Amino acid sequence: MLISWIKKTTLLDFPGKVATIVFTLGCNFRCHYCHNYEFVLPEKVADFMNDLIPEVAFFNFLKTRVWFLDWVVITGWEPTIQKDLYEFIVKIKELWFLVKLDTNWQNPELLERLIAENLLDYVAMDIKYPFLKYKKIIWVDEDIAKFIKSKDILLNWNLDYEFRTTISKWYFDEQIIKEIWEDIVGAKRWYLQNLEEKNLLNAGFDGKSFTPDELNELQVVWAGYVDVCEVRK
Ligand code: SF4
Repeated sequence: MLISWIKKTTLLDFPGKVATIVFTLGCNFRCHYCHNYEFVLPEKVADFMNDLIPEVAFFNFLKTRVWFLDWVVITGWEPTIQKDLYEFIVKIKELWFLVKLDTNWQNPELLERLIAENLLDYVAMDIKYPFLKYKKIIWVDEDIAKFIKSKDILLNWNLDYEFRTTISKWYFDEQIIKEIWEDIVGAKRWYLQNLEEKNLLNAGFDGKSFTPDELNELQVVWAGYVDVCEVRK
């Protein structure tokens, strides 16, 4: 398991509950707006290989927090590209922690196995764009069937989850909200995250974040589709 960083304590992911966040290394997408892309691009990732956190050190840390921590959040870049993610999560569950997985949909078989074996308690899944237009954002060719399969798994299992979308004026408007909704129709929670205009993977990307007033207008449209719709600033 390639662990690039650990945030030992946060109350932000689950208000009132204490979580540790584990950041893995690398991602299969190349989203224009990715910031901290040093952890994504292979030529940059190599710089971190000597500074990875050993798995044994992570578990030694967890064992000292058994009475204090509620959740372990596994995030990335993209955790499901790690070959031993399944075994890693099994070991966390053996310590009786709740597990949240952040993912970009790219491994439905692993997702289904983890859910079926009760190894996940919450999944946050990125929905970048309408599936048929995905490449406009992720900038690589990916098999759309994988995304559809992951979405179906999430909607059909009785597991707590959220969808989330990073938004920018360059590519996001009322019509796109409608098109994304048609891909995830029936979803319970869908969060929007405003673009952070800094350190972007595509330096030529001229996307701009929305103003608070513009976000409020978008939220009115978007609330017509889904029960829980919040903007994360
Ligand atoms: S924004 Fe997320 S999914 Fe996109 S390249 Fe960066 S880490 Fe990967």
